[in-house]
Amino acid sequence: MFMAFDDIPRTHSFSLGDFHDFDFCVFRFFVNHHLGKKYELAEGSANQTVGSLLDLAVKKFHLSHSYGQPVEYLPNLIKAAEAEIRQKVQNSPSPYSFFSAQIPFLTPEVIGLANEIFKTYYQKIEGKFHKSLSNKTFWSYVLQGEKPLKLWGGPDTVEQGEGGLPEVIDYKYHEDSEAGKGRMDMDLMPKLYMLLVSPELVSLGFEKAVFKLKFWQDPEDESFYEEFGISSMPNLDAFFKDKIERILRTDELSFCEKPFCKPCNSPRREEWVKELQAQFNLS
Ligand SMILES: [Zn+2]
Repeated sequence: MFMAFDDIPRTHSFSLGDFHDFDFCVFRFFVNHHLGKKYELAEGSANQTVGSLLDLAVKKFHLSHSYGQPVEYLPNLIKAAEAEIRQKVQNSPSPYSFFSAQIPFLTPEVIGLANEIFKTYYQKIEGKFHKSLSNKTFWSYVLQGEKPLKLWGGPDTVEQGEGGLPEVIDYKYHEDSEAGKGRMDMDLMPKLYMLLVSPELVSLGFEKAVFKLKFWQDPEDESFYEEFGISSMPNLDAFFKDKIERILRTDELSFCEKPFCKPCNSPRREEWVKELQAQFNLS
């Protein structure tokens, strides 16, 4: 039943960002995904780094069973999150990895802001984070078939909701909270994260679960959620298989030409076009 995930090539492994890239710009997708330039072209930002620190800190909060700790304790978790980002980048065999674009933004200001937001959130929820149901921090899921496909990534936490249902949660930080909410993907993200987590939910004996977004600046907003039955997972499995197979059948490059699309505006554009034509039969 268990299969070696590493046997599935990069071209057949998809995260949420890969689907978003494809919808945004076909060329950008192929450069980031098939040529593996995603982390090299990532620009990073102070806001993204605040979000990473907070997301890692809440995972650490659960992993270290910090329930009931006073608010003064939280900076330890932000500090540990910072250390993890630095260590992951240092330990990566490649100069470009998941967090590498964020290193320049790990400034005292950014860390101070993350501390401030974490503390304010904690005070607003009166220190009552729900209990975690899983220690896993990385998820992957194999779509079986003639050529197996892999989904990877996943939510920040899986928590015990108040009504007894598990909550699959992704925490979000946006500099402008309301504008950020307007950009949220409440279509693919809930489906993908729920499918990724579903084997764990089944092993815990759950038949239903809620996907929920929580906003670091606005803990009261519980309006971004969707309930799923575990019985609907075969449909989600088929949905993503179909979606990926359609992407992999693409045989023609197209370009969004938007001014902020890095691959479309790169001086290396022609070089990448040639590479993609030669390696993947794209025209
Ligand atoms: Zn583009």
